[in-house]
Amino acid sequence: MKVKIATDWLAGCAGCHMSLLDIDERIVKLAEAVEFTSSPLTDLKHPPEDGVTVGILEGAISNTHNIKVAKQMRERCQILVAIGDCATFGGIVAMRNMVGTDSALKRAYLETETTVDGIIPTSDELGKPLDVVTGVDKVVKVDLFVPGCPPSADTLWYAISELLAGRIPVILPPEYFKYD
Ligand code: SF4
Repeated sequence: MKVKIATDWLAGCAGCHMSLLDIDERIVKLAEAVEFTSSPLTDLKHPPEDGVTVGILEGAISNTHNIKVAKQMRERCQILVAIGDCATFGGIVAMRNMVGTDSALKRAYLETETTVDGIIPTSDELGKPLDVVTGVDKVVKVDLFVPGCPPSADTLWYAISELLAGRIPVILPPEYFKYD
């Protein structure tokens, strides 16, 4: 039986998911071993209610919607993996903390030199911006961190391969991950 995996992105740039796709032809091997359920790759939005073995999250916790997504993933997966610097400690998104959320939103949506009649977008789907951007582990328990911006395809391949083999990956600096 295939191992079920769900992935999602929070406040991130999608680069970590792109890096996952960069495993190139190894994706065929991966597809033989796993079933991708909900994921930006499949466009299914919620992990199945009966759960998955591995949940993978990219991106920081930046708004209330991110918290909901992270909590649902945590509830529905056995092993939660945070991939990328944003998910690990806030990464580039946490630069917002240096100026504050209100100031960052004003600058981005109202005050740029090319903005005319700008508005700060709001919607239930976007969620409410948080005062402080954090990594995923500030709202749910994370079992494995795979840092990097993004983590290389080889690093992600190693991490997933080890999990599929029933081992906890030991994440080392990038020069250790040289695959042919
Ligand atoms: Fe993008 Fe880097 Fe954040 Fe991944 S860690 S979501 S590549 S900014």
